Amino acid sequence: MRDAIIHKTLASLRVAPNMADWNAAREAFSWDQVREELGASADDFNIARLAVDRHVRGAGADRIALRYLPAAGEARMLSYAELQRQTDRFANGLRALGVGKGDRVFILAGRIAPLVVAALGSLKIGCVVTPLFSAFGPEPIATRIGIAQAQVLVTTEALYRRKIEKMRDTLTTLRHVIVIGEGDTASSVAGALDYASFIAHAAETPPPVTTGPDDMALLHFTSGTTGTPKGAVHVHGAALMHFATGRYALDLHPDDVFWCTADPGWVTGTSYGIIAPLLHGVTSVVDEAEFDAERWYRILQDEEVSVWYTAPTAIRMLMKAGPQLARRYRFPKLRFIASVGEPLNPEAVWWGQEVLGLPIHDNWWQTETGGIMIANTPALDIKPGSMGKPLPGVDAAIVRRHEGRVEVIEEPGVEGELALRTGWPSMFRAYLGQDERYRKCFAGDLYLTGDLARRDADGYYWFVGRADDVIKSAGHLIGPFEVESVLMEHPAVAEAGVIGKPDPIVGELVKAFVSLKQGIEPTEALRMDLLGHARKRLGAAVAPKEIAFLPTLPRTRSGKIMRRLLKARELGLPEGDISTLEGSE
Ligand code: ATP
Ligand code: MG
Repeated sequence: MRDAIIHKTLASLRVAPNMADWNAAREAFSWDQVREELGASADDFNIARLAVDRHVRGAGADRIALRYLPAAGEARMLSYAELQRQTDRFANGLRALGVGKGDRVFILAGRIAPLVVAALGSLKIGCVVTPLFSAFGPEPIATRIGIAQAQVLVTTEALYRRKIEKMRDTLTTLRHVIVIGEGDTASSVAGALDYASFIAHAAETPPPVTTGPDDMALLHFTSGTTGTPKGAVHVHGAALMHFATGRYALDLHPDDVFWCTADPGWVTGTSYGIIAPLLHGVTSVVDEAEFDAERWYRILQDEEVSVWYTAPTAIRMLMKAGPQLARRYRFPKLRFIASVGEPLNPEAVWWGQEVLGLPIHDNWWQTETGGIMIANTPALDIKPGSMGKPLPGVDAAIVRRHEGRVEVIEEPGVEGELALRTGWPSMFRAYLGQDERYRKCFAGDLYLTGDLARRDADGYYWFVGRADDVIKSAGHLIGPFEVESVLMEHPAVAEAGVIGKPDPIVGELVKAFVSLKQGIEPTEALRMDLLGHARKRLGAAVAPKEIAFLPTLPRTRSGKIMRRLLKARELGLPEGDISTLEGSE
């Protein structure tokens, strides 16, 4: 029955193509050409200068770079010229403190404009930047600062008081703390610098520091869906990827208003919340507030967002809030929607088409890849449930690990591990402090992603599951995503998480955890109905044998469903390292 999902190719779901011939564009593509277009060279290659200063030298100085929406109060605008001034000042401020190339700057703040300034300013002088998720509690913050030996922390007064103050003495690597005051008042944290006066007193001239494409730029921690988060190291050269993918996967043009809803604490929030849109000279919306369905629809409407990049978890929450709410708003400027982070169920692609008037384009990448690798793009027909095709400059393959060797599977339709040919510019260069683990990700010139997928005859890639999550039941390999997608088609279901539960006869039996839409009761009759629905759609071998109702599913701090936790709970095991859940507010 899986064919019912897979073979629904929908030319009707194609939005205006951003290039005439996808295959020709892939063939003609070269990284040198992208480098030339950006005006970057081997001895002067800096993400922040390319993202900001480049536009100020050209016609874009007065264009709005950031439209910052505080949780309460008026929107604030920051032009490219102003962003250049502020980032230069921040950079010079750091230099005056003796902070320089290679030093680690951590930024713990919500989605606010100073976070963008601090990140870009630090990059300008070759510091390595790590934005931290602001809802982390003290423990995950301290662990990450410790791993990275961070020298500088930029944070807000409220976050400092709540999370840092009590443990400040234990953070021995930190030489400087810069605190952003609340509203327009200066911070009064003893022993720390006030952000506003730090900027005000620094020189405005461009800092005389150059970086190269292989200099370290960003340190991002993974989401911790499968275990302890890893610190992935990225370099300035990654900007080539951010620029190219901004064009091919997100279709960014300078007159766009772009909204990436990811938090900068996760790689998407930096690569696409900050860097890619600025490289393209677009206006980025930065919303400080937490998710609220009504506020989000209002932002899409009132800010006249044209390109929107969000995540399945957010889309599921909007779906849960019901279509009536969406119909109170109009989105005439919206022309492209993309999603990343988890598999996007076909149901969600359709929901976009029906409720927002546009389908949702799923794309795939990881903290390790630094940028989008596989995507449903405006130039391609969408196959709902597929991640799309490898972008120009990206070579993907399906491989099988066999007796210590890695074999590329050429024939279509076969499940295997998703691999990428090394050489794309935003590839991670290390797992900080875990060299052996890094080495193990590679076989020859292939990077092994740890995700299972298959490629169809048209070259589209289909996510099967993480290698760790795949279920082996009575000789079948079952990807949880396929089962979850079918459960999501049922009108009562808001979310589903599927695991393999050890079973003496079949090895593992398929068990589903389901949360229901608002106002729906978890009754025995509904459970039977769901079991029947799944059996009809998937067949008895793949359909869940057990379904349990949960009010909500456990997630990582970045919002992903944590199947390993569902499994640990099912088995009554210790929940392992759940540092991504622990220690939050
Ligand atoms: P950890 O590596 O610590 O377990 P994580 O893998 O969730 O955490 P990220 O780098 O944030 O950390 O997420 C990348 C992973 O998210 C991918 O490897 C994949 O499993 C999943 N993912 C991202 N986008 C998609 C997508 N479009 N479809 C399916 N899965 C996706
Ligand atoms: Mg991962």
